[in-house]
Amino acid sequence: MSERIGRTGGVPAVPAATPDGAHLLEVRDLFVEFHTRDGVAKVINGVSYHLDAGETLAVLGESGSGKSVTAQAIMGILDMPPAVIPSGQILYRGTDLLTLGEEERRKVRGKQISMIFQDALSALNPVFPVGWQIGETLRLREGLSRADARRRAIELMELVNIPGARQRVNDYPHQFSGGMRQRVMIAMALAQDPAVLIADEPTTALDVTVQAQIMDLLGELRRELDMAMILITHDLGVVADVADRIAVMYAGRIVEHADVHSLYRAPAHPYTKGLLESIPRLDQRGQRLTTIKGLPPNLMRIPSGCPFHPRCPYAQQVCVDTVPANRSLGGGRTSACHFAEEVLDGRV
Ligand code: SF4
Repeated sequence: MSERIGRTGGVPAVPAATPDGAHLLEVRDLFVEFHTRDGVAKVINGVSYHLDAGETLAVLGESGSGKSVTAQAIMGILDMPPAVIPSGQILYRGTDLLTLGEEERRKVRGKQISMIFQDALSALNPVFPVGWQIGETLRLREGLSRADARRRAIELMELVNIPGARQRVNDYPHQFSGGMRQRVMIAMALAQDPAVLIADEPTTALDVTVQAQIMDLLGELRRELDMAMILITHDLGVVADVADRIAVMYAGRIVEHADVHSLYRAPAHPYTKGLLESIPRLDQRGQRLTTIKGLPPNLMRIPSGCPFHPRCPYAQQVCVDTVPANRSLGGGRTSACHFAEEVLDGRV
């Protein structure tokens, strides 16, 4: 693996190695609000999670749970305003990215932490060949010549298993299928050899077979390139084989965090339980799927107490009155439910 920092010259914004005791990436008690004409939407409400080298963390939740906004805050690509970050830290190799200026953030973005988006067609520029787009950052940021950038673009297209990369390097995005466009996006994200890859719903726009191929590819690349990965998804079904840990988000909070096997075996939060029960299973053919009733909350008017209480089948008065703390259940597992132990033991 090539050296990952300091290649653009000058004093590196963050250290080349993770200091002892620090995580590779740590989001610490992060709050994000959107100030709009209609009011303040509290989109992220005290999110904390971490990622170590070589790990895959899945961040799971419905639309509007805050999982993508947290990722955009990590990347430094939130529109500010309307977004405001009242408090919190985003530590990369122990350095708080929120304290860096835009020039320093730019050195981290793409080179240290890179992101792939769900809609490759709108993320790619339709009027430039894909090889040119993959090579663009290498020309602009790494100072590669056009010929070297093109050569590297072909290597990256081969790395993500695009057949006939050498012949297709001059093709335009519309000449590729949805799955192949997503592979182009992944190649672009890998161009600067990042230590962390954030994949935001990378398979949502794809059919089931291609989804599986892209997830397999991401798993292979993570191992081969020794990256850490944050996989953002609303679909628990796609993370089982890829993730090490899962953080479940609801209304801008982490409501459950566990290693993937413990969470699948026995969820410790009713929201996770509802998500698991809504996954179609081959051994339950013909049975109706369970769904979580109701809709995610309006983030300008988050319900009192536990924000999940209007939708929770186990809600009690305490859930309406008191915000549940994110409690440790041992083994690195946490749940923000007043009745976490009962849910975990299957007593409710
Ligand atoms: Fe349901 Fe209450 Fe737990 Fe919230 S705290 S998830 S409302 S049981």
